[in-house]
Amino acid sequence: MNLAPYAALEAHSRGRHHAEPGPSNRSAYMRDRDRILHSAAFRRLEYKTQVFVNHEGDLFRTRLTHSLEVAQLARTMARSLQLHEDLCEAISLAHDLGHTPFGHAGQDALNDCMKPYGGFEHNAQSLRVVDELEDKYASFRGLNLTFETREGILKHCSLARARELGDVGQRFIARGQPSLEAQLANLADEIAYNNHDIDDGLRAGLITVAQLREVPLFRRHHDEVIDTYGALRSKQERHETIRRVMSTFVEDLTATSAALIRGAGVTHIDEVRALGSPLISYSEQLRAENLELKRFLREQLYRHHQVYRVMAKAKRVVRDLFAALFDDVRLMPPAFFEAARTLEQQQAEIGRARAVADYIAGMTDRYALDEHERLFDPRRLR
Ligand code: MG
Repeated sequence: MNLAPYAALEAHSRGRHHAEPGPSNRSAYMRDRDRILHSAAFRRLEYKTQVFVNHEGDLFRTRLTHSLEVAQLARTMARSLQLHEDLCEAISLAHDLGHTPFGHAGQDALNDCMKPYGGFEHNAQSLRVVDELEDKYASFRGLNLTFETREGILKHCSLARARELGDVGQRFIARGQPSLEAQLANLADEIAYNNHDIDDGLRAGLITVAQLREVPLFRRHHDEVIDTYGALRSKQERHETIRRVMSTFVEDLTATSAALIRGAGVTHIDEVRALGSPLISYSEQLRAENLELKRFLREQLYRHHQVYRVMAKAKRVVRDLFAALFDDVRLMPPAFFEAARTLEQQQAEIGRARAVADYIAGMTDRYALDEHERLFDPRRLR
């Protein structure tokens, strides 16, 4: 790997909470990635909703395939910017570990339930998963990841939460930046979902090419496809257009960021962190076009009547689960009941609520539906 001086060089790493000898056959960030890949939370991503709930169809993105697409984009761009690919990959694979079942509907519902107890933030939960909840190492809690991977996972965070989080919360208080690798993984996330949501939305028949042509970024590339190939089968037309949109994002982000990095003259990761604004960024034009695309997806897809109805049901499931389990933590599996007892001793009701939120956030879509039935259907015995 040919790394720039401002990349997250291992020699400049802030290390792990629990000191461990360095790995002999891989980088510290490869070790982080491997620990993430082998975690139970990572396997659960397969059955968690991105936009479409898992049982709606086999070919829609799940949190797992979304995370893999993010990792692919982040690594590609990291290599051309001479940033640390392994760190980008670790952050990308871990960035959604804290997501609830049922995508943003699940997160909103759980956040509402948790309002009196400090709220629920999925980014902070991803960090909690790798710091606290994964439980399989004898000598430490969580996965004991490097500071740099943890810093990248905590993409957003409220000030109140930042104050509780110590080292990785610091930058939100000081208004600094994370590593360039973290900035890159953050935007790779957005590029991935913008494009795969167009793809899934079209295939689901919830949006149409004609509607999407209202978005200049899409129309420009769609015109190019039609000009080049004439009439195509819809699958090819869709893919040829989306891959052009995606390449435009990747090429623009890479070129704009390279120029910003040169202009800033940074020579060390700590100089990157001390800046007031990120160096990984789209050009002005693409930033505006990106906003238009996102507005389209929000209005036409994420708020589509059909999506809305499924999500309203999902919210009800999460609210019901929270109410029943918070009321009687003995209903949770023994390990979560124990955790609730411990947290309750430390923080009273806030601790009890946090244990319930940890249990619900860890559920896959189908586990949540099944657990709801087990708890509320009197004919179910187990
Ligand atoms: Mg994501």
